[in-house]
Amino acid sequence: MVAVKKSLPRRQFDVVVVGAGGSGMRCSLQLANAGLSVAVLSKVFPTRSHTVAAQGGIGASLGNMSEDSWYWHMYDTIKGSDWLGDQDAIEFMCREAPNAVYELEHFGMPFDRNADGTIYQRPFGGHTANFGEKPVQRACAAADRTGHALLHTLYQRNVAARTQFFVEWMALDLLRNEEGDVVGVTALEMETGEIYVLEAKTTVLATGGAGRIWAASTNAFINTGDGQGMAARAGIALQDMEFWQFHPTGVAGAGVLITEGVRGEGGILLNKDGERFMERYAPTLKDLAPRDFVSRSMDQEIKEGRGCGPDGSYVVLKLDHLGADVINKRLPSIREIAIKFGNVDPIREPIPVVPTIHYQMGGVPATYNGQVVNWVNGESKIVNGLYAIGEVAAVSVHGANRLGTNSLLDLVVFGRAAGNHIVNSHLERQRSQASAPEAAIEKSLDRVNRLENRESGERTQEVGNAIRQTMQKHCGVFRTLDMLNEGCELIDDLVSQVDNVAFKDKSKVFNTARVEALELENMIEVARATIHSAAARKESRGAHALDDFPERNDEEWMRHTLWYSEGNRLDYKPVQLKPLTVDSFPPKARTF
Ligand SMILES: Cc1cc2nc3c(=O)[nH]c(=O)nc-3n(C[C@H](O)[C@H](O)[C@H](O)COP(=O)(O)OP(=O)(O)OC[C@H]3O[C@@H](n4cnc5c(N)ncnc54)[C@H](O)[C@@H]3O)c2cc1C
Repeated sequence: MVAVKKSLPRRQFDVVVVGAGGSGMRCSLQLANAGLSVAVLSKVFPTRSHTVAAQGGIGASLGNMSEDSWYWHMYDTIKGSDWLGDQDAIEFMCREAPNAVYELEHFGMPFDRNADGTIYQRPFGGHTANFGEKPVQRACAAADRTGHALLHTLYQRNVAARTQFFVEWMALDLLRNEEGDVVGVTALEMETGEIYVLEAKTTVLATGGAGRIWAASTNAFINTGDGQGMAARAGIALQDMEFWQFHPTGVAGAGVLITEGVRGEGGILLNKDGERFMERYAPTLKDLAPRDFVSRSMDQEIKEGRGCGPDGSYVVLKLDHLGADVINKRLPSIREIAIKFGNVDPIREPIPVVPTIHYQMGGVPATYNGQVVNWVNGESKIVNGLYAIGEVAAVSVHGANRLGTNSLLDLVVFGRAAGNHIVNSHLERQRSQASAPEAAIEKSLDRVNRLENRESGERTQEVGNAIRQTMQKHCGVFRTLDMLNEGCELIDDLVSQVDNVAFKDKSKVFNTARVEALELENMIEVARATIHSAAARKESRGAHALDDFPERNDEEWMRHTLWYSEGNRLDYKPVQLKPLTVDSFPPKARTF
């Protein structure tokens, strides 16, 4: 048995950051530079976090290659969000974007350059000049490895700032005291199998997304929604979980991502007749319309029998006309991925692609300072001691659909803002040290011990597959109420199976069976939140396309969904339509 009830080792910090992706490391850098004691936990070595896989770019209105303004970026983001994004947070992000990118440049991030030495920027889906007139070049890129460049830059800066990394440590549960303040986490050191109590005056969730609850996903295997699960178990609502982005171009059959940057560089989508079908669906932006739009159009082509391949099950992405020089210089990893996973060399042949789950717009509700909020009696209430940043958080700048390049941007803008807010809250003047109550620790340990002591039961892999297949089948690009309601029943039935998972190998050292079983308990929370939130929303908005209600319904549904794990309960709160300083962008129809 791994977890002994008494005398768990305790360690104390000013701040525990759970997650070493772009958001976690941008935040920890701010904290370590201010002299706070910071522990950053990660299930994998920091530079293997999913941020490393980001390809296309980070959005900022630098205007290096075509005229641009943060105000246009703000408009595009609100329109992209289908008016579910909070306009105060969106203004904050788009205004901060150029500074955030210049800061990365000064940290040493190796961006591609123009001949005049400025940062290279490519067009990206939904990013326009002059309020939708034409595509703009806003995505700052380091070839097709922008996330790799960003994450390594931040890691090196953190090492210099003496951030303490806890590598291959898995946070298990949030610890809350009697007042409801968060005072740290329990965590498993994977190498030894020991469980620790990490006490902190402030805890930051930066655990990334949960795309692994679908069968076909562009996400890393570690993206199992641990932060969402921890928050849900601790009584915090998950917001807007029905909104998941399908990226239009996952390699058919493999799921590996082909960046939108390919279309930014001039790549086009074709159906089996060789028709550039996006011209029909989005006459102005064509292949560079936002992702929800392109994914639905592709699905439509396939459904109506114009898909390619023996089963007509995919469309193709053609880029050979860009020429070998452009492909090798700007899209080298894409060529490698296409050869390895799609069995085609894009210099000569088009790549078979299908819409693939990619990103969660929803998550743990947070302000643009990163503070987690609960919705109590019609008001937002801060949860003391808890912040959420990056993909795990719903700030909400992405609303019902995220624009490409706005995630890397949100990581650094809100990672930095949360760091500053924590520094300015003067932790040294707060309680001398947070102390985690025994009851909260016991609850977490009981959960682990139940799993540990079970000799027989369900197999993690099988229950996981059932979750993934159900989500894939019942919560796709197009949804119907029948499909969703059936999905709710199936997912609810799987809860008891998750509660009955057992694994045979009880060894302590690097026991991945234990880690996977613990991850499954987080995945089921995300799946429940998603399918129940989706079944309740009777309209189509952004990535939530419901056949039974094909129109957006602002009167009844321009509001954020909140899902509570306890009682499987839903609540709603209004969208913030008021920006910080400028006039609101009122809702209008979304055409491209
Ligand atoms: C293939 C791909 C390409 C993308 N390309 C782009 C792009 O070009 N532009 C763009 O803007 N966006 C892009 N995105 C989206 C963007 O990369 C992600 O949303 C973003 O990187 C998430 O960063 P994060 O800091 O929130 O989390 P991540 O980078 O996912 O990091 C999560 C961290 O949390 C840790 N963690 C998780 N659970 C635990 C736990 N229980 N205990 C301890 N640690 C834990 C992990 O170990 C990891 O360190 C892409 C996404 C994918 C999947």
